[in-house]
Amino acid sequence: KFIVIEGLEGAGKTTAIQTITRVLNQNKINQLVYTREPGGTPIAEILRDIIKNGVAGDPLTNKAELLIFYAARIQLIDNVIKPALSANKWVIGDRHDLSTQAYQGGGRKIDPHFMAMLRENVLDGFKPDLTLYMDITPELGLKRAKARGQLDRIEQESLDFFNRIRCQYLDLARQDSSIITIDASKSLEKVTKAIEDALNTWLNS
Ligand code: C5P
Ligand code: MG
Repeated sequence: KFIVIEGLEGAGKTTAIQTITRVLNQNKINQLVYTREPGGTPIAEILRDIIKNGVAGDPLTNKAELLIFYAARIQLIDNVIKPALSANKWVIGDRHDLSTQAYQGGGRKIDPHFMAMLRENVLDGFKPDLTLYMDITPELGLKRAKARGQLDRIEQESLDFFNRIRCQYLDLARQDSSIITIDASKSLEKVTKAIEDALNTWLNS
């Protein structure tokens, strides 16, 4: 199975992955493969660096950024995720295509028809079995991410940009029953419990 964790910066994706790992291990699921996007293969990690840090003197355009995301994603799917799933391993993804729909669709307002065309052609129906979306306001998330010094090129974006991303995440989560929304603004203890409950319910269904 392919489980993905999604959310804005500072939503607590990394901690959530630790919780997911513990719950899976408790359910005797131990063959886990971890991925992150953008990234997760040597080529995709080079593309990640371009996306995260940019290249001096050559501003990345919205469409170029979108295409780079898909290039990185299909490298990862074909060379890591699909082989792992074929070997009966479980894959835990730190971000996947929902990020692109939220950031490039909602945030950067790229034409939804172009987005859908690209997604259908590149992914060809491939999607996670379960996505946990960690919902947090940009105000709180960015505060947490800044405290950890984890921001990059994205830091120059407005609060409005992050609010559009969050709205898009929430909209998409409402439309897709394989996406579960977790209130990530709560205390660590409560968030952990919510993830455990959601995952156990899903595993037993
Ligand atoms: O480690 P993290 O997943 O936060 O880093 C990915 C970076 O790429 C973040 O700055 C995130 O906001 C950005 N990103 C993006 N569009 C996506 C996915 C991530 O701009 N589709
Ligand atoms: Mg993280």
